[in-house]
Amino acid sequence: MQTALADFIKNSPDGPIADKILRACVHCGFCTATCPTYQLLGDELDGPRGRIYQIKQLFEGAAPTHSMQVHLDRCLTCRSCETTCPSGVTYHTLLDLGREHLEKLQPRPLSQRIFRATLRTVFATPKRFGPLLAMARLARPMLPRKLRNKVLPTPRRIAEPTQQTERTMLVLDGCVQPALAPQINQSMRRILAHLKINLVTVNPGSCCGALPHHLSDSEKAREMAKANIDAWMPWVEKGAEAIVVTASGCGAQVKDYPSLLAHDTAYLEKAKKIAALAKDPVEILAAEDLSQLPLTPSSELTAVHTPCTLQHALKLNGHIETVMQQLGYNLTTVAEGHLCCGSAGTYALTQPELSQQLRTKKLAALSVNKPARIVTANIGCLSHLQDGEAPPVIHWVDLLEQDLA
Ligand code: SF4
Ligand code: SF4
Repeated sequence: MQTALADFIKNSPDGPIADKILRACVHCGFCTATCPTYQLLGDELDGPRGRIYQIKQLFEGAAPTHSMQVHLDRCLTCRSCETTCPSGVTYHTLLDLGREHLEKLQPRPLSQRIFRATLRTVFATPKRFGPLLAMARLARPMLPRKLRNKVLPTPRRIAEPTQQTERTMLVLDGCVQPALAPQINQSMRRILAHLKINLVTVNPGSCCGALPHHLSDSEKAREMAKANIDAWMPWVEKGAEAIVVTASGCGAQVKDYPSLLAHDTAYLEKAKKIAALAKDPVEILAAEDLSQLPLTPSSELTAVHTPCTLQHALKLNGHIETVMQQLGYNLTTVAEGHLCCGSAGTYALTQPELSQQLRTKKLAALSVNKPARIVTANIGCLSHLQDGEAPPVIHWVDLLEQDLA
């Protein structure tokens, strides 16, 4: 579509990026049909095409409004629209720019600023989140059911493998995952040890930056990305083969480091190198000889919930199913797998009603054939979908580890 950007963006480094994306959109509206918020609300302004149009208006000099903020806030950043778009519009990059500029141009009410700052400082900081979670676990039996399900029980501890091998991969520790579900990275470490690969954590408690990024604090997200790059680069130069990211939401963020640091000449090349090495567990395991694993797959029915970040951002839809079927797992089909579960970073807290509606639909779709469990690949979806009555939700590498001899 035609653009006429206002000087404030046209003359900034973001100008050419925004212009290119806006021009790529032909306004066809195909994306609208697969947008979860459009499906729920039926409002063009709550679909991708409408959001693109609002960002275009903003970048062309229209006055920022509270209404724009509401519609952009409601976006899950699930990127389902990008999978559908025939013109290759990188919607999420435009949304990031729109949100970042709107945040500066349209100040939020004080209550929202405090709430969002609290989310950023608590969830992205393990030193704060860990003790809070420990207290919540103590109080767990007394909590109302809804809240109790969010507080995952104290996890099992998996012993560290002792053998050392020549092959090394790094792993992102993450911010909430080490406290909520440390067994996920421990499971990956044990599986890789069977494949004669060391999995090393070089920066404990490191956040990928997705949490502040989702809350429009791109500066904090850049700071976190650079800290990770600084920690990983020496190991990469020494021959680390990959950076394993066991939460697909974090994996999508690390893959996006070049875009996040596009204007940083000191970091851009390093960001590209790190992004190329960032791998989801399914990419790592699909490339190895899994017959080496002493694994007896559970025969019980399992449903796979593929997070949006795995399918729409990392483009790995169906890969978990392929690996699990090769290993002998008994999987059930799941309808409407392309739709978001409503977790989406902090979305469950910032947009609780929409998030709950999506969660209810997703759990119903996953539970149709009464699986014994649901497996997924992202800590956010895992804790969001946890429910006292529906099948338990675990990370798929956690299931593999449980089935190892
Ligand atoms: S984003 Fe893609 S699918 Fe959506 S309106 Fe634009 S060109 Fe069409
Ligand atoms: S990212 Fe998801 S919620 Fe946002 S516009 Fe695209 S499809 Fe809709």
